[in-house]
Amino acid sequence: MDKALEQKLIERWPNWFNTEGDVRDTAMPRGFEHGDGWFDILWRLCVDLEPLVAEFEQAAGCQFEILQVKEKFGELRIHVNHANDAIRERIGVAKEEAYRTCEVCGQPGQRREGGWIKTLCDEHAGAHGEHQGSPEFEQQ
Ligand SMILES: [Zn+2]
Repeated sequence: MDKALEQKLIERWPNWFNTEGDVRDTAMPRGFEHGDGWFDILWRLCVDLEPLVAEFEQAAGCQFEILQVKEKFGELRIHVNHANDAIRERIGVAKEEAYRTCEVCGQPGQRREGGWIKTLCDEHAGAHGEHQGSPEFEQQ
């Protein structure tokens, strides 16, 4: 994701994104490994997580941390160190949203499968060079 967008999230929730951490403990030094179109989904997720995380940290006595945010097979993947059901549920909602949202621009999108799998709107599916109906083996 664009570094300026990443920075907004990191500055707002510095305790959750350990971008200076050891890469053996957290993938966040690599940044958010997805397109800019999912920024709003993440922002809303973090806003909603605030009260849930505060409650969880108080009850569990440990600090919540997001260890990885990435795109894989057109899906938003979020890995955290600890969570309760409420946190997991809210993250699940974000994944559902990403599933219907273009990863490039944030417009409504859907899963596209070709030589790659991405969640994209019509415009960006075209720009990505979708080869509908082409057999897999013809694609590089
Ligand atoms: Zn798009």
